Amino acid sequence: MSAHGRGLKPLVALQELGEATNACRECPLGENATQSVFGEGPVHARLMVVGEQPGDKEDLAGRPFVGPAGRLFDRAVAELGWSRDKLYVTNAVKHFKYELRGKRRIHKTPAQREADACRHWLESEISLVEPEALIALGAVAARSLLGRHVAVMSERGRWHEDAAGRKVLVTLHPSALLRGDPEQKAAAWKAWLADLSLASKVARAARAAA
Ligand code: SF4
Repeated sequence: MSAHGRGLKPLVALQELGEATNACRECPLGENATQSVFGEGPVHARLMVVGEQPGDKEDLAGRPFVGPAGRLFDRAVAELGWSRDKLYVTNAVKHFKYELRGKRRIHKTPAQREADACRHWLESEISLVEPEALIALGAVAARSLLGRHVAVMSERGRWHEDAAGRKVLVTLHPSALLRGDPEQKAAAWKAWLADLSLASKVARAARAAA
């Protein structure tokens, strides 16, 4: 079967899945967000990157990884020599959780029950993309992928295995670097790149296959 033929069905299924998340009200987050933000990237990407949830900008744009944290991730991808358009990027939770402060919508970490409610969408997404490996950015993504509490600071920078035997690299969410101590920024950046670089082999293979 041609690559096109192989990709068409999952592509349609992914589009339908994205639409289904938009209509989903399995947890309270769907009511208050503008829209769901589903994953984006090549249908059979070798490397899938999973963040926590959409932020304010993503919620408005309907696209993942387009806010400040996403831009920091893009910078890391460029430094590592990966090809951003060969990665599939998504979030563990598909709707934006926030609290209003005046007119500002301030990000709130999803509750465990909300991430648990959303997990089947992520699992369906993974089963259609069939990545060779995944990167979990932050504790919510790591828990959704590995099905257990993950202490990111002690488990970061190494490969873990999910229930299906897929490789999952755990590291910080880029927003943690944005919030971090300014004096530690250079060291935190270097450590984060070192974590991510463990996935370079998979990311570069994806690039070579382009
Ligand atoms: S966050 Fe997930 S589970 Fe909750 S309503 Fe949105 S799609 Fe459904």
